[in-house]
Amino acid sequence: MKVLVPVKRVVDYNVKVRVKSDNTGVDIANVKMSMNPFDEIAVEEAVRLKEKGVATEVIAVSCGVQQCQETLRTAMAIGADRAILVQTDEELQPLAVAKLLKALVDKEQPGLVILGKQAIDDDCNQTGQMLAALADLPQATFASKVEVADGKAKVTREVDGGLETLEVSLPAVVTTDLRLNEPRYVTLPNIMKAKKKQLDTVKPEDLGVDVKPRLKTLKVTEPAKRGAGVKVPDVATLVQKLKTEAKVI
Ligand code: AMP
Repeated sequence: MKVLVPVKRVVDYNVKVRVKSDNTGVDIANVKMSMNPFDEIAVEEAVRLKEKGVATEVIAVSCGVQQCQETLRTAMAIGADRAILVQTDEELQPLAVAKLLKALVDKEQPGLVILGKQAIDDDCNQTGQMLAALADLPQATFASKVEVADGKAKVTREVDGGLETLEVSLPAVVTTDLRLNEPRYVTLPNIMKAKKKQLDTVKPEDLGVDVKPRLKTLKVTEPAKRGAGVKVPDVATLVQKLKTEAKVI
């Protein structure tokens, strides 16, 4: 069984992004970029499935600019066998990515597609769901445990009230939550090995997909600044302030 793992190149989670002065977006020039953390978890899970003998091949896919190759090399250093870059300089929105992934699903016929539950840059939480709809595949989102056997995946999902366990027949789409696993550190020998692994590049046109944005960003602004806190002398004053100033009780 092949496992396809889409990985997105995003601003590193340690970077504090700044909004551009013209409010058109955030400034990502000269900012450290890394693999979306949920996608690292997805690669780790796919590699573990391969190590258990459940998966036969792990294919990492990234859609975007040429530098996404670095993200794909990281995926291969974790243990993905090969990678595909769908290269474009166009701004990619979740629907466009889902259409590109659907074309690759048709071509590669994976038994499982494991995506991150959301990308930490746009926080969309849409691509996996859209892919499942376009490819007409069952989906299990926000997975904290995945067990694959007999052409089925048993997926434990993190939902508001606790945990829900679903069974989906394969092929299927799964999206990862934080607690699914702890990704391994990539070692230098594996980084070196990853340099030699196969990385194919295709264009959206080769997959017959129009990736033009369908949504227009009107404005991006900084969150409102938080006011300074105050120290209160006792509980009575705190309760008083919560009642009269904050008006929350
Ligand atoms: P989103 O719907 O944008 O929050 O992204 C959810 C997941 O879709 C990510 O965690 C990735 O697994 C995948 N994804 C989104 N954008 C891309 C991209 N440009 N290339 C590869 N995978 C992507």
